[in-house]
Amino acid sequence: MKRCFWQVAIVLSCAVGCGFGIFAQTRPAADLIIQNARIWTVDPSLPEAESVAILGDRIVAVGSNQQVDAWHGPQTRVVDAAGKRLLPGFNDAHVHFTDGGAQLDSVELNDATSPQEFARRIGERATKTTKGEWVLGGDWDETKWSPAELPTKELIDAVTPAMPVAVNRYDGHMVLANSLALKLAGITAQTPDPAGGVIVRDKQGNPTGALKDAAEDLLFKAVPPPSHDQRRHAIERALEHAASLGVTSVQHMNPDYADIAIYSELLDEGKLTTRIYAAPLITQVDDQVKIGIRRAFGGPYLRIGAVKAYSDGSLGSTTAYFFEPYSDRPGNRGLLSDEMHPISIMQDRMMRADAAGLQICTHAIGDAGISAILDIYAAIEKEHGSRDRRWRIEHSQHLAVKDFDRFAQLHVIASVQPYHAIDDGRWAEGRIGHDRASRTYAFRTLLNHGVRLAFGTDWEVAPLNPMLTLYAATTRATLDGKNPDGWFPEQKLTIKEAIEAYTMGSAYAEFQESEKGSITPGKLADMVLLSDDVLSIDPVKIRDVKVFKTWVGGKLTYDNGAASR
Ligand SMILES: [Zn+2]
Repeated sequence: MKRCFWQVAIVLSCAVGCGFGIFAQTRPAADLIIQNARIWTVDPSLPEAESVAILGDRIVAVGSNQQVDAWHGPQTRVVDAAGKRLLPGFNDAHVHFTDGGAQLDSVELNDATSPQEFARRIGERATKTTKGEWVLGGDWDETKWSPAELPTKELIDAVTPAMPVAVNRYDGHMVLANSLALKLAGITAQTPDPAGGVIVRDKQGNPTGALKDAAEDLLFKAVPPPSHDQRRHAIERALEHAASLGVTSVQHMNPDYADIAIYSELLDEGKLTTRIYAAPLITQVDDQVKIGIRRAFGGPYLRIGAVKAYSDGSLGSTTAYFFEPYSDRPGNRGLLSDEMHPISIMQDRMMRADAAGLQICTHAIGDAGISAILDIYAAIEKEHGSRDRRWRIEHSQHLAVKDFDRFAQLHVIASVQPYHAIDDGRWAEGRIGHDRASRTYAFRTLLNHGVRLAFGTDWEVAPLNPMLTLYAATTRATLDGKNPDGWFPEQKLTIKEAIEAYTMGSAYAEFQESEKGSITPGKLADMVLLSDDVLSIDPVKIRDVKVFKTWVGGKLTYDNGAASR
């Protein structure tokens, strides 16, 4: 209604000869024009442009400065981008948003380079923790220690006598508990390993404190859930962080319902500054089935209608499920997740989700874990017929030779996180051998087979910063500096392919390619202005590129102040 009023005002002022072109009289002026930008639109019909006009929350014109200036009215705000690169906002197809936000304030263990430093930081955090609270978070990575041995409870018991500790490995597939936490959770030498999980034990059979996959749940059951305020604070921190990095949409994998409630609350208050697509666990599929909502249900800021399933564990925790044993663990092929015991339970749940029109996103990492999911997807298609489902396999990490074609035939989207490649690339070959590693994070091979890619980070498992993801996809230079020309360099992508996977690819993966993913008239005005031109600089420098401004629906959600005139 508000818009109608001043649209009339502009037409009237033009009628008395304000110098707008003839066309300006028949349309409103833009609210915002960004000009003098180097725009990569990710729209093949007009790949490059200088200027973009925004009206309300939508893009209305893209073109040269002169063409777009036809949308300039008396109230139009103009941003001079000073020749900087403007891209569609990044859409992170796989995040754990609340955990990420909480991590920003939790104990930081990822860059602890020795067990002593790991213990020191936990001890320091314990002194700042209120009695009764748990020390959580961490994201430790023992592969950065020498020797790379798993931590044990003894390492931290002395510094945390009165505080329960449950710090997770960075991949989320292992957690280390101290003795008090094990006691509160009732985990003892007599506790059997749950299906899909391992309680790591010493020679006498006593728990060492490390718990893998489904065994983590035994511990987390004892952790009090976060309060509403704690959860809201974490989400607000995550929204802020996303805006500062040019991430304008995220797809939240396995949120709690309480997270969705907070998104809804923030939306109501006009404070949701990142667009969310939330995919709760498939074990709760019947809730969404009962309501009757279908894939991508909701509005531009908040959608549901997908479910997240787990096929197996992770490579780092040696729980990703393979056809052949790990090269460095004879006899161990990894684990199917607890949801896959038996596989028929998973298949039933997926059949119900599909019959209801819900989208299915399945975590699958090992070649056998991926194959098992493709089998189920094929069985669903056989039973329910073919239609546009956009099934996803999250991570799609290690494919069997035979499965690249099946992936394409079933139109499965590979939802991948390139940063994992430069992180795991440090040690993956030792764990699975050269042959399997050659089909690991095989982005180029997937594209060659006609598989669509959607990019993400898996934050808080990896950093949310899209520049690190673009850097990883284009260089494949492992974090240890040992593969400067790329780990399996034949799998590198071009910067244009990487940007496309991170914008249109991710939008397609959430059924939103007609709403976002490119700078195209009619689409939502989600954009990011960068400090350097990622399309022309040496890919090695992409990781240092900063965000100058972020817009979501034409609203400025981040401004570092250094951007433009
Ligand atoms: Zn994840």
